[in-house]
Amino acid sequence: MTARTGTISVKTSDIFPIIKKWLYSEHDIFLRELVANATDAITKRAGLGRTRNEKIPEGEISVSVNKGEKTIIISDNGLGMSETEVEKYIAQLAFSGAEEFVKKIEKTGEKEGEIIGKFGLGFYSSFMVAAKVDIETLSMEEGAKATKWTCEGDTDYSFSDSDKKDVGTTITLHVNKDGEEFLDLWKVTNTLQKFCDYMPYKIKVEDAENKTRENDKGEIEQVEPTLINEIKPLWKRDPKEVKDEEYKEFFKKMFPMEQEPLFWVHLKIDHPFTLEGILYFPKINTNKPFNESNIKLYCKQVFVSDNVKNIIPDFLSMLRGVIDSNDIPLNVSRSSLQGDPNIRKISNYIVKKVGDALKTLFRKDREKFEKIWPDIGLFVKYGCISEAKFDEILRSMVIFKNSEDKYMTLEEYQGSIPKEYTEKMKDLVLYFEDGVSDYNLKNHLWEKGVGVIHTDGHIDPHFMQHVETQKRGDNTYRFSSVDSEIGNILESENVAEEDMKVKDLFSKVLFGDQKEEEKTEVVLQKLKDSNAPAYYKIDEQMRRFSKMAESMGGNEKFPIKKTFVVNPANTLIQNALKMHEKGEHKGLVNKLCHHVEDLANISSGGLNNEERDSFVQRSQELLKELTGLAL
Ligand code: ADP
Ligand code: MG
Repeated sequence: MTARTGTISVKTSDIFPIIKKWLYSEHDIFLRELVANATDAITKRAGLGRTRNEKIPEGEISVSVNKGEKTIIISDNGLGMSETEVEKYIAQLAFSGAEEFVKKIEKTGEKEGEIIGKFGLGFYSSFMVAAKVDIETLSMEEGAKATKWTCEGDTDYSFSDSDKKDVGTTITLHVNKDGEEFLDLWKVTNTLQKFCDYMPYKIKVEDAENKTRENDKGEIEQVEPTLINEIKPLWKRDPKEVKDEEYKEFFKKMFPMEQEPLFWVHLKIDHPFTLEGILYFPKINTNKPFNESNIKLYCKQVFVSDNVKNIIPDFLSMLRGVIDSNDIPLNVSRSSLQGDPNIRKISNYIVKKVGDALKTLFRKDREKFEKIWPDIGLFVKYGCISEAKFDEILRSMVIFKNSEDKYMTLEEYQGSIPKEYTEKMKDLVLYFEDGVSDYNLKNHLWEKGVGVIHTDGHIDPHFMQHVETQKRGDNTYRFSSVDSEIGNILESENVAEEDMKVKDLFSKVLFGDQKEEEKTEVVLQKLKDSNAPAYYKIDEQMRRFSKMAESMGGNEKFPIKKTFVVNPANTLIQNALKMHEKGEHKGLVNKLCHHVEDLANISSGGLNNEERDSFVQRSQELLKELTGLAL
């Protein structure tokens, strides 16, 4: 046997210790690297076979674990290497790649999590778990001689002859102390399942010490190696041929804990970059945080990461699924990804595809669109606010529940305004924030045929602000809460001199104790046949800003100024005034004024504990006194 030796030329002489120490918590990536190399080798052999018109056996990768001998053997029937190629690709080139990579990490001081995929360490990642690595390989080239390369985790290596008969490469890892957990078949199987679930060639794993077993009848039989992967995952298939059931099944396999998905988009593009994938709209689970990563990133069917942050816009990370692309640079730092033009293109493509799919659903199956809206609404609004491309497609399809509990777009809302009000309500959209706005006002408006849209206090203030400030197309909208506009729309007649007495009464009784500079203002507004004696009005801009500040997590409460609006046309108010003018029942008038204020609060945001107690107590007294008077 002729032993040929060599030395890896490195500048950083302590590179091996770095490789071993680095990524302590992610030792398992060595398996991915070696299986990915095997996959590449099979693909290359198939490619060469095609051009040369040679018949090539079906690609297969086997992983064999031997606990007793402390080895893990990874074999493939790919194109193999000649001795010169091992020298060149493994000893020199591969190493320089690894060296460069390690240097980069040292220099930028980046933590493991900030590097995507960790591709780039490649073959040498095997030294994280192995004290010694052998490569036995036979090239597919005619007349090739098999060779064996051995390296013990330092810069020296040696070649010797090999009697390997089949074309391909076998890599033997002599596992060190750090890698002992990988001598467990279960651990290896799990790791392979994590990374190689969908690799394009068969990957089998076996226990080298237990290749046979005794069956029920006492006979010895072969233990079949376990097949790890699905060779052609759903996303590689032609969307036209995939049935709904298959999409649902695939989702279930990937996300076993989740409910059935609502809707999905199959991505497929070859030019100007390659990208395949499936993105699902999940049913919203309010118990689960949004920013959990739910999209898995693959590169040529090899699992890379389940963190796609900086690759796709934030709002899309509410979706679940897979993205597979060769064109996402994997070994660069996260921070530099955003500026990458390829990433920008990929991200735009995904945004557009998802947007178009929703648009098609809206146009072709409005019923289904409305059915899933409670789950996708937040996503769509967030998308419109944060991505101009998405906004362009979907803004006009954002829908809200109206006064009849039916969904409508903003344009449909404007079309629903009765003729006599269109002049006053040009561009105006009245909104009713559930649990906050005054429903007396909503009802009164609806009696006149003027509807509202129902909004929430979280995303909607942002969405409304966005629509008002970022104009799109011919439509302009201005949003106002029912309380801030009802007067302008419905006020029936001008306030008379006589009515000023109402103002004085309420100012004195309700706010007489307040300091002059903090005094709540009382204004009058005549709304004929409205049941509401009074309501609180809040300046629209102030309300909006306080909501936005709140939803962005500001813990300081934004001070909002309220105005108390009293309706002198309301019978209750008129009666209270008459009693006051007579100068009798002073206590009763006082209670009535407070009662009117409480009613205004109850029909909007509600009362706090203290207010509720005094409301109940006062109601009891009031009823006692009033029934006494009626006798
Ligand atoms: P990379 O895969 O990024 O090129 P690696 O360090 O993983 O870097 O591998 C270096 C090179 O060694 C590969 O490009 C390939 O030429 C060669 N190689 C590694 N593993 C195999 C294999 N199983 N079969 C054939 N060639 C291989
Ligand atoms: Mg590699």
